[in-house]
Amino acid sequence: MSKDPSEVLESVFGYTSFRANQEELVRGLLAGRDVFGIMPTGGGKSLCYQLPAVMLEGCAVVVSPLIALMKDQVDGARALGIRAACITSHASPEEKREIADSYRAGELDLLYVAPERLSMESFQDFLRSHPNGGPSFFAIDEAHCISEWGHDFRPDYLFLAELKGRFPTTPLVAFTATATPRVAEDIGRRLQLQNPVTVRASFDRKNLFYEIRSRTNGDQQLLEFIADQPEGCSGVIYRTSRKSVEETADMLRRNGVPAQAYHAGLAAEMRTQIQDDFIKDRIPVIVATVAFGMGIDKPDVRYVVHYDLPKTVEGYYQETGRAGRDGDASRCLLLYSPGDIAKIGYLIDQSEDEDDRNRNWTLLRQMDSFASTPVCRRVALLGYFGEEYVAEKCDACDVCAGSFEEVEATYEGRVVLSAVARTGSRFGAVHVCDIVTGANTERIRQFKHHELKTYGLGKNRPKKYWRRVVDALLAGGYLRTSEGQFPVPQLTEAGGLLMKGQGTFVMREDLRIEPEKAGAKRFTSDPPYDVGVFQVLKSLRTQIAEEEGVPPYVVFGDRTLRQIAAYLPQNEAEFSRMHGVGRAKVEKYYDRVAGELACYLSTHSDVQSTPLPVREAAPKVVKGLGGTYLETLALVQQGLKYPEIAQRRGLSESTILGHLVRLKENGEKIDLRQHLAPGVEERAITLLHEHGTESLKPAFEASGEQISYGELKIVVALMQEE
Ligand code: ADP
Ligand code: ZN
Repeated sequence: MSKDPSEVLESVFGYTSFRANQEELVRGLLAGRDVFGIMPTGGGKSLCYQLPAVMLEGCAVVVSPLIALMKDQVDGARALGIRAACITSHASPEEKREIADSYRAGELDLLYVAPERLSMESFQDFLRSHPNGGPSFFAIDEAHCISEWGHDFRPDYLFLAELKGRFPTTPLVAFTATATPRVAEDIGRRLQLQNPVTVRASFDRKNLFYEIRSRTNGDQQLLEFIADQPEGCSGVIYRTSRKSVEETADMLRRNGVPAQAYHAGLAAEMRTQIQDDFIKDRIPVIVATVAFGMGIDKPDVRYVVHYDLPKTVEGYYQETGRAGRDGDASRCLLLYSPGDIAKIGYLIDQSEDEDDRNRNWTLLRQMDSFASTPVCRRVALLGYFGEEYVAEKCDACDVCAGSFEEVEATYEGRVVLSAVARTGSRFGAVHVCDIVTGANTERIRQFKHHELKTYGLGKNRPKKYWRRVVDALLAGGYLRTSEGQFPVPQLTEAGGLLMKGQGTFVMREDLRIEPEKAGAKRFTSDPPYDVGVFQVLKSLRTQIAEEEGVPPYVVFGDRTLRQIAAYLPQNEAEFSRMHGVGRAKVEKYYDRVAGELACYLSTHSDVQSTPLPVREAAPKVVKGLGGTYLETLALVQQGLKYPEIAQRRGLSESTILGHLVRLKENGEKIDLRQHLAPGVEERAITLLHEHGTESLKPAFEASGEQISYGELKIVVALMQEE
């Protein structure tokens, strides 16, 4: 293969460089190895198989769990000029046949299927009917669905364990965004990956700003948070119950935020409609239960809010991970209230299975400790997944950004510790705080706790404050949480010493008691751009997206629009340097973008462009046909005819003829006519006039399958030339 992956990266995908790990995975696949990629959401998995699919001879088959996901992927790939399709149960027999035909004709780069289809013998036979004898490789997306240990096990994924046996020589690539080592191990074993190139990316999502606040007035805090976001941007708010989802959506609408509720109680069509509206930017804010998000690849979600405490840290990570897939700065806010633990705990206790209960309580306690401990969120989160964060602080979480102040609270700490000690470490945090603040509850009277020395010592401060002291003592190791179903704080050795007067206790106090505007840090370095131009480009994007029936982000991402608005590209070469703009997008959209820019600039003479950064190499004008074409070209230049070339290269004749047409279109000197047998051209022209050139199938069939697809393609090219 003569072509360099980085060249294809630029010419097809419009990116200047691979992200960490992408290149290793891509090279593994190009070398025909099995590959295992463990990378976080937004890490750029799709590119890892799409790029080799384009470069390798033949068609790659991608297994994906959700139809919605497949559709988005196909839209995105097609927008880049990749020949992609998906066969789903929703497709009409007609459509299915057409896709099957192009697969057999070697005219597809990528075919998406659901696992249950792949498990059918007949479908496997169909896959073998490719001119190359089978797919170039299999890519298994969301591979954790095969593991019962994963958070999203799907029985229909189990068949994939047999795939290696059925197609022993076809490379297999598996991808997952699940971070836990146990699941990863399970995937590799079940899929029988052979000595795979394994890449485990960091789970650090650098562009996410993590923030956890005490929930004092949730609605108010939410409204202020949203008001602080760029206008009209997309966001998701998670709540735990259907009822709370509806309430919050209503509350937002009453306050002028266009929000839509989403939960499992809605009819299926309604849910699909809402997803579609969200993806196509018709509804900016979704209030949802965690059911929302799986299967939504929208890259420009700018914020995720957890209004309630999530049940597990992994869940929190996956849900916040839906923000900022495009790499732009995005925010994740969790509104924390210790009261949520009792609510979730109540649900956990409903389970009949004791193991289940214990596991879920453990997970919940880990979540609680994560949320209530003011240490760098990133360090804590990655630590949970066994990944060490190299720096001590991250600069992109509330703790590192200075939302907390260290205050000495030795006296307050001792008051709490003594309340715990005097009640024999047998009571929960709520009760301990009741004692300290001198509350008059039934339990206090029942246990005569109003007679304790510590009773009411802290009544000058609200109960919430004392709860934070308890949390800080837990975080500092002065208290620990007991095991078992009703965990309570217990004194540790360090706690005992502190209580007896040794050492000092410092806690981090949240400076955001009054919700203030958090200085939203933008940590992507965008060039300065004109907002007016950006708006114009955005409307153009919406218009194109509607015409093509695809989500706006498939046309251009926000970052692309910002770059265009900043650099105001003057020609195709400059345009092709915008983020995410490859060959296909230059061809399809340059004229319209240029037209729109010219029109706007003619009435806004004050708009300045930012000079494009100088590049080391002179900008390549993208010519870009892969190495396989060049090999064919070399043989043509030696004077060989296509049947011989096909034989030498071990490819189908149709594929070679397809190469000739593409080469010709690309400006190579090729005498197409010379490759046609006498009389074929005339017959083909008649048939094509009769049956049209939109699809070649009718003409192919009308010829009694005598004239091949390749020959028809050549004739079409000749007709277009004339
Ligand atoms: P995943 O499937 O891993 O969640 P995607 O494949 O959807 O992630 O990629 C996330 C985003 O990153 C997409 O918007 C994609 O266009 C972008 N992206 C991927 N690779 C690169 C790259 N090398 N340079 C710039 N952007 C990239
Ligand atoms: Zn941090």
